[in-house]
Amino acid sequence: MNLKIVQAGEPVLREAARPLTAAEITSAEIQQLIELMRETMRDAPGVGLAAPQIGLPLQLAVIEDVAEVEATERAPVPFHVIVNPRLTLGGETVDFFEGCLSVEGFQAVVPRARTVQVAALDHRGEPIGIEARGWYARILQHEIDHLGGTLYIDRMRSRTFSTARNAARHAAGIPVPELLAKLGEGGPTGT
Ligand code: ZN
Repeated sequence: MNLKIVQAGEPVLREAARPLTAAEITSAEIQQLIELMRETMRDAPGVGLAAPQIGLPLQLAVIEDVAEVEATERAPVPFHVIVNPRLTLGGETVDFFEGCLSVEGFQAVVPRARTVQVAALDHRGEPIGIEARGWYARILQHEIDHLGGTLYIDRMRSRTFSTARNAARHAAGIPVPELLAKLGEGGPTGT
């Protein structure tokens, strides 16, 4: 069974989600929710899904990536859960196209930290530490943003905002720095 993924404009996407206790995490309800979120993410398909995206203001997200793309430092990430995450950004920023299952059909270039550290709880309520770079770091920043009521459109280089179809037609194969210059988005990222 797939859960309904809510779209931009739904108030829950703009709320700060609440943390979960360890007892809540191990409850049958949350364990069931994690399973449903995993299925929903896989079917979408997506590489991450945060609880606010299925209408629940809880600090919980699921992540899984199976792709490998050298240009974006993308590598497979096994399925895992982050709860109550705290994010620390590295200093270097990278620009790349990003989309969101809650902003269906669109994409934009979003500057993100190339490396991050995350302290969180896992699906058993146990503390975990994550060090990530490249695409995985981008996924973590995107999902953790959801838990604070932030969408990528708040951080995007707005002149690159495009339908997914037009991005495939007009932006595919163009190096991102070249595309930014062409669109008048060459300035500093401010991170
Ligand atoms: Zn999203």
